[in-house]
Amino acid sequence: MPLVSVRVHEPPAMSQPDTFIEHYERKIHSQKQLIELSKALNSNLDLRSLIDSIMNVSIAQSRCLQAGIYLVPEIDHHGLVLNENFVGFEISDAEEFVIPYKSDLVKLLSEYPTLLTLAEIKNIAAATAHSSLAEVNYREAVVQLSRLSDRLLLIPLKAKGRINGILIMGPKSDGEEYLAEEKAFLSDLASLAAIAVENARLYELATVDMMTKLKIHHFFQTRLREEMEIARETGQPLSLLLTDIDHFKKFNDTYGHQIGDLVLKEVAKVLISTAKGKDIAARYGGEEFAMIAPGRNLEAARVVAEKYRERIEKLTVKNPSNKGEKQLKVTVSVGVATFDPGADHENKHLIERTDQALYAAKHAGRNRVEIK
Ligand code: GH3
Ligand code: MG
Ligand code: MG
Repeated sequence: MPLVSVRVHEPPAMSQPDTFIEHYERKIHSQKQLIELSKALNSNLDLRSLIDSIMNVSIAQSRCLQAGIYLVPEIDHHGLVLNENFVGFEISDAEEFVIPYKSDLVKLLSEYPTLLTLAEIKNIAAATAHSSLAEVNYREAVVQLSRLSDRLLLIPLKAKGRINGILIMGPKSDGEEYLAEEKAFLSDLASLAAIAVENARLYELATVDMMTKLKIHHFFQTRLREEMEIARETGQPLSLLLTDIDHFKKFNDTYGHQIGDLVLKEVAKVLISTAKGKDIAARYGGEEFAMIAPGRNLEAARVVAEKYRERIEKLTVKNPSNKGEKQLKVTVSVGVATFDPGADHENKHLIERTDQALYAAKHAGRNRVEIK
């Protein structure tokens, strides 16, 4: 399957040899960039760094100062949301930048054969206002986008015939209009990006627990095995945290399973934000979470565990139901152990030791960290 579609533009006339050569040099440069990018995109399943690559290349190529990308944040979400990796646009947290999936703008972009500027979209909206497409209403999305910039270029990301993102580029730094070849490049880039985003999304679906957004158990076991191999080969430290919510049953029993789920989600968020760099936060099972901490020795892992414990202790979960406390308090116990190449031949050996530390933390009164 060809990775890069080659667009044929009319070359400049042969009577202008310099321009002619420059034209092809630029074209070859663009194609090379696309091939490099396609390699990078295809080998990367991490959505966040994928988006960084897409944004960096599109900004560098079109020499613009602002760019953003709308993506579907989760499978059951109703719209495309401006990703936090936007660059240069001044948007406030209070403003919601969501383009509903069922909006006319998404419909237009999915049916229109090329990318469009905001001005062109406004024109289409005006031209169709009195036709049979009179119900077509782009106003809301157009107003929202105009707040970012009046001069945007919208490039839909299409995979399997569906839009899974919209790349938006602000005005170019030289104030000029986008050239046809720049648009062509961005369009090719968007085709590659759409497939890469789709792959990353499928990978996320297969490896992430939908409720807590933590990695699933199978992923945890696979990554732990890999990290133990790496630690064995490199001699780098590797530690493991196992954490369990204290008296979690009482949330279920007192407030019902849904509130129990809410507490789980909030606690998971804290673990995810405590995990840094190579750390992997996972749902070991039920209300037991884990963190694989490559590069951290026992003391460094204990420090992270203690930070997590403290953050949970300070956490209050709003109780949306009418009964009981309005603010729920929660604590966790954490067990920490570090990889021992002499003793840990399989995952279960390290897990067992970490579990013993967790048990000790429970036994010693809960809301504490124990090491083994
Ligand atoms: P301890 O301090 O000893 O850990 O006490 P505990 O009440 O937390 O005891 P235990 O760990 O045995 O209880 C786990 C409970 O978590 C039992 C199970 O019903 C509940 N649970 C497991 N998964 C979920 C879930 O996805 N949602 C909800 N709401 N509850 C869950
Ligand atoms: Mg438990
Ligand atoms: Mg528990």
